[in-house]
Amino acid sequence: MDTARRTVALINVLCEQRGVGADAVKAVGEVLVEYGELEPLGLGEGDLEELRAAALLLREVFAASDVDSAAAVLNGLLGGVQGRLRLTSHEGAVGWHPHLDSDDEAPWGEWFLASSVLALTVLLWDRQAPPGGLCASPSCPHVYLAHGSGPERRYCSRRCATRERVAAHRRARGGAHSEEARSGGAHSEGARSDGRA
Ligand SMILES: [Zn+2]
Repeated sequence: MDTARRTVALINVLCEQRGVGADAVKAVGEVLVEYGELEPLGLGEGDLEELRAAALLLREVFAASDVDSAAAVLNGLLGGVQGRLRLTSHEGAVGWHPHLDSDDEAPWGEWFLASSVLALTVLLWDRQAPPGGLCASPSCPHVYLAHGSGPERRYCSRRCATRERVAAHRRARGGAHSEEARSGGAHSEGARSDGRA
């Protein structure tokens, strides 16, 4: 689950940081350290390009609308991984964890894709549901992990949910006003739903 959370955090920071300059390397490096990667990371601008390419592929898993299509995307990505499944502790430096890349010290992009595909595969297996989705806010590029249970999630964050709720409220209000203008102001549906929101 932590690995899946790391996948989401990395996809999101990589789509925010469009450049390959020092700022982007720093922002992405901070996420890697936050999720337990040991410094020095040796993360360079070339790594950022490869990480971003991996993020775009992984995003397709989150864009899948149902469990069958998410499984199909993951199967496609599993077909491209270059290593076999194994456990490593990096010679005792960290706890045992699975790798699916070609080498325990594989380049960042390959590592990110392989470890994320593995985590999302296990998550889908566990839940028999898509691992997550794309934020429903049209102005937000983020992905999110689905809740284990409870109501279906649509936004990456409370911030996006609130912004979209306010925007929908404004649209309903605007709609109500133009409706009133057309109908002379009587009994507007828009105004009623507006009051409930
Ligand atoms: Zn969002």
